[in-house]
Amino acid sequence: MLKITQLIARNATVANLAGSRSLQPRLYSNAVAVNEEATTTTPNAATNADEPIEMANPFEKEPQQCILCKHNITPNFKNVKLLSQFQSPYTGRIYGRHITGLCKQKQQDVEQAISRAQHSLLMPGYHKDVDFLHDPKLFDPEKPVRPHKY
Ligand SMILES: [Zn+2]
Repeated sequence: MLKITQLIARNATVANLAGSRSLQPRLYSNAVAVNEEATTTTPNAATNADEPIEMANPFEKEPQQCILCKHNITPNFKNVKLLSQFQSPYTGRIYGRHITGLCKQKQQDVEQAISRAQHSLLMPGYHKDVDFLHDPKLFDPEKPVRPHKY
């Protein structure tokens, strides 16, 4: 008890020595703190509005898909009109993946379907069917997706 009273007395003397000068800044600082609290509470909504908004990445690349995957087409050996578009009109050769731009699976399916159609005599082997010569081109064989390796 004695110690506490002594401390209080010391503090009182310090306050007295410092006078009103030491008290004023304290009050001022308290007031500022109160003001800060007030200001931080009211414009909180405004600062939230300035915060970045959660949104989809506008620079994200769309996933690359081959033309058959994009339209969800599974090559069938009876769909000769489609399969002939992957065949050279001069030699009947099936265009490679570097020209067709198909994914591995679809290219394999197309090649399998073409060979099956040729075996079942639905498609010619050494030229393109004359009926399909003027079909729209899915790709330009002169401008392959990837350059030729030879
Ligand atoms: Zn694909």
